[in-house]
Amino acid sequence: MSDTKIALVTGANRGIGHEILKSLASHGYVVVGTSRSSEGVDIIENTIKDHKTEGFGAVFDVKDKDALLDLNNKIKEKFGGVSILVNNAGITKDNLLIRMSEEEWSDVVDTNLTSIYRITKEFVKDMMKARFGRVINIGSVVGVSGNAGQTNYSAAKSGLLGFSKSLAKEVASRNITVNTISPGFIDTDMTEKLKDEQKQQLINAIPLGRMGSAEELAKVVCFLASEDASYITGENINVNGGLYM
Ligand code: NDP
Repeated sequence: MSDTKIALVTGANRGIGHEILKSLASHGYVVVGTSRSSEGVDIIENTIKDHKTEGFGAVFDVKDKDALLDLNNKIKEKFGGVSILVNNAGITKDNLLIRMSEEEWSDVVDTNLTSIYRITKEFVKDMMKARFGRVINIGSVVGVSGNAGQTNYSAAKSGLLGFSKSLAKEVASRNITVNTISPGFIDTDMTEKLKDEQKQQLINAIPLGRMGSAEELAKVVCFLASEDASYITGENINVNGGLYM
């Protein structure tokens, strides 16, 4: 076992999570990435190999309570306790409130908020013992601005802000920081499903006049994970091209 810090990224097989995995790997962290599929695990493991760092990919559904302990035990056996946790996995199931089903509500809140309660609770224990840790939660611009058609998603992402600030106060004495990054409109599969007209309308509302890239998000994650961010906690960093200030 080495002294290298171990980072865990959920939903690391594509989109923002994959870029976060790549960035952390290129900074020399041991990286563990999760995906819901074995194809996703292959993508993660190839990325780790390409960056010549250590780590592995694991099949893990963030809603699966029972798999959580196994995942932590596997990481601890191979490398030791996680010190950087990036809660990235997330979904959207948009609908106007009056048409929103219980399932659309609970799928989004369970995946984007309740799972973060569970995963963070599991991994923060070792950070407390180690007296060092970084919890980085991926929120959303709509968690601060609101958005028609996304009451479920906005509620979950706003909830994440309150969760992060409260936990930041609980664990600061153990040298653990807890922060949120709220992306704006980022070019991934999640935004690919929007119609061209919707995309153009959104771009028109962004002062920087373009969508953001997953790489731009990943750089902020690497900063928050680093020693350079040691005095930042309970903060929300908007990475949205000025869409919401
Ligand atoms: P993508 O849809 O491109 O990727 C989502 C990732 O989350 C995939 O790896 C997916 O795995 C994983 N995931 C989804 N549900 C689960 C689950 N139940 N268990 C485990 N993994 C799961 O999304 P983005 O990369 O765009 O989004 C990443 C984060 O950024 C999310 O939290 C999102 O809310 C947030 N965000 C994104 C914005 C954007 O414009 N793209 C804007 C604001 C916030 P699989 O491949 O198995 O489906």
